[in-house]
Amino acid sequence: MRAALVALNGEREICGVIVQMPLPPHLSPVVVEQTLAPGKDIDGITPANAGRLALGLPSFVPNTPAGGMEMLRRHGIPVAGRRAVVVGRSNVVGKPMALLLLREHATVTVCHSRTVDLPAILREADIVASATGRAHLIDGGMLKPGATVIDFGINFPDWSGGKMVGDVNFQSAITVAGAITPVPGGTGPVTNMMLMRNALAAVRALGE
Ligand code: NDP
Repeated sequence: MRAALVALNGEREICGVIVQMPLPPHLSPVVVEQTLAPGKDIDGITPANAGRLALGLPSFVPNTPAGGMEMLRRHGIPVAGRRAVVVGRSNVVGKPMALLLLREHATVTVCHSRTVDLPAILREADIVASATGRAHLIDGGMLKPGATVIDFGINFPDWSGGKMVGDVNFQSAITVAGAITPVPGGTGPVTNMMLMRNALAAVRALGE
């Protein structure tokens, strides 16, 4: 895989590369992160892009959290000064989402599998962004009335009869939330649009 990435890095006709995760067990994501050229890293997973995001410098931002921020912006949801809770701390969704919310001046709490009393923390949140891969981890009873809920989760639990569901129980949460993304049809398509935006930026950067 390293050799393939080195070849793609050197290919002038190729402007952006995305490696679909999760990888099979014999392949390490670390190899991808350390080999892919930062200028072609249109999912923002390399240390150079992740570090630049953390420092508030221009970078390729991971597409899924970038899409979450774009939805907040387009729907006029205020972020500055609001309490935001991000559930999940992966490098590709949770952590960058927290950094992007912080960049927009939210007061951000990051929760994960060791968090004690997640419902109590969620009840304080004006904005909830969840990326855990745990079907229906969050329901309406855990939310502050009027909260904005961004559900990144993609889950196919046994009980859903093959249907895709999010981290949030939509039917229950929609009765409490002020705004909520459905699953499917919410964050997924927006992620794809952000990927195209990053790809175009990579094309333009190569032309400069
Ligand atoms: P990871 O498995 O890398 O991370 C999951 C995170 O959730 C971890 O930080 C984990 O905590 C946390 N977590 C797990 N269980 C709980 C729990 N019970 N309470 C609180 N936190 C918990 O997943 P990804 O970030 O890669 O993906 C998360 C979800 O988002 C998946 O469903 C994935 O399919 C989806 N996804 C959606 C995309 C989209 O376009 N909408 C794109 C990418 C992913 P800990 O760190 O302690 O283990």
